[in-house]
Amino acid sequence: MIRKTKIIATIGPSTSSKVMLKKLILKGVNVCRLNFSHLKHDVAKEIITNIKEINQELNTHTAILADLQGPKIRVGVFERPIQLKKGKKIIFSTKRKKDAIHISYANFAKDVSPKERVLLDDGKLNLEVVSTNKKDTVVLEVIFGGLLQSRKGVNLPNTKISLPCLTIKDKEDLSFVLAEKIEWIGLSFVRSANDVKILKKIIDKQNLNHKVIAKIEKPESIKDIDAIIQATDAIMVARGDLGVEVPPHKVPVYQKMIVEKCIQHAKPVVIATQMLESMTNNPTATRAEVNDVANSVIDGADAMMLSGETSIGKHPLKVVDTMRKIIRDVEKSEHSISKNIEDRELLDDKRILTNAICSNACFVAKQTKAKAIITVTYSGFNTIKISSYRPNAFIYAFTNNHTILNTLSLIWGVRGFYYDRGTTTDQTIKETKEILRELKFLKKGDLVVNLASMPAQEKGMTNMMKLSKVK
Ligand code: ATP
Ligand code: MG
Ligand code: MG
Repeated sequence: MIRKTKIIATIGPSTSSKVMLKKLILKGVNVCRLNFSHLKHDVAKEIITNIKEINQELNTHTAILADLQGPKIRVGVFERPIQLKKGKKIIFSTKRKKDAIHISYANFAKDVSPKERVLLDDGKLNLEVVSTNKKDTVVLEVIFGGLLQSRKGVNLPNTKISLPCLTIKDKEDLSFVLAEKIEWIGLSFVRSANDVKILKKIIDKQNLNHKVIAKIEKPESIKDIDAIIQATDAIMVARGDLGVEVPPHKVPVYQKMIVEKCIQHAKPVVIATQMLESMTNNPTATRAEVNDVANSVIDGADAMMLSGETSIGKHPLKVVDTMRKIIRDVEKSEHSISKNIEDRELLDDKRILTNAICSNACFVAKQTKAKAIITVTYSGFNTIKISSYRPNAFIYAFTNNHTILNTLSLIWGVRGFYYDRGTTTDQTIKETKEILRELKFLKKGDLVVNLASMPAQEKGMTNMMKLSKVK
């Protein structure tokens, strides 16, 4: 059985060797995420090369997601983790000093005031500002303590931060990323649709195909969510920082709201952070974590992401296996999202032909209990559209564009195949069915819906569908 909900794994010290990457991909990882908060370009380059080689060796289409740090504030690097005890006073400094913890935000001492909260490591540690010299040094008191590790994130929920969405570091990382064959770019701390537009303009100007995932982790982005969904190629519910920037009890409802809107507008959506967090150190997940993953599948997310679990965790392969099994069992059950999507209005006038064919293809597939919807695609547009109806049938996408094949690895229910033979629509429909039958994805007598564009030579918009049986 093919899995419909996809798995994204963050690559780090636990998983960056070629041997481990291969094992991860064989276990079911569809997208590898490189977090540029923690990666030097030479290391990233090596991981990218390894993934490309593995894709060739295994004939897989693993996508790469390059996640840009954005205006994230972090503590500096220290040799050993620091134990922060409740009630203790500690010093943060924007200068590198011996008895202070370094902080990366130059205006930190100027921007904070006494009594304001400072949260560390996705809010796990909680400090309060005691005093600031308004220049470079801040004294803080530990409210909830714990172990602080190097380069953990800092959130200032009461403080307005005046940093651009693409920082100087992001721009350097972006030029590296745009020179590589990477399919997805994550944009952190998006505050408005304009942040997304700025990045998309840079990509378009260079005539590149990189797709943007807007990470929703600021209260401002929740307010502007409709415009952001419109502007972006995909969305990530980045629950780590989101659950610090807004009270965590608001996150579940936001997750459901965002997933629903994304499906409505045919924009892929990823759920991220702490999905199987306890497996970073333990060989098994908590019941609550298993339920969270299962419920995210039921919500209808395209993909679910692993962070520390696979980047620095002790059991990266077990974690992927756990996630895969949860997805499999939910998708086998009657609680799968597939049945919940009703027909909806066609939103986009420019694409009215494709949209109408796609929605009706899903309707026909549902009526006839067809096994497959087969697309031929040049941009991936029709395939993402089909996926947004969350059909029961599997979606098989054929394309001669390797970048699109990899891009589609993130999309719900889609399995891609390289294909560049068909010269006529008839021939393509016949051959794609034959290929799927040879690979045992289909069997004799199965009903399938094919989408095509006629005449084939024009490589135009999807404008026809055909319902037929596999011979
Ligand atoms: P983000 O807000 O973008 O998610 P993060 O700091 O939470 O940033 P994650 O990618 O979620 O980072 O990974 C969780 C933890 O795993 C990080 O805090 C970091 O300690 C570690 N980590 C991730 N990638 C790497 C890497 N390439 N090298 C070293 N440590 C890493
Ligand atoms: Mg994280
Ligand atoms: Mg984040």
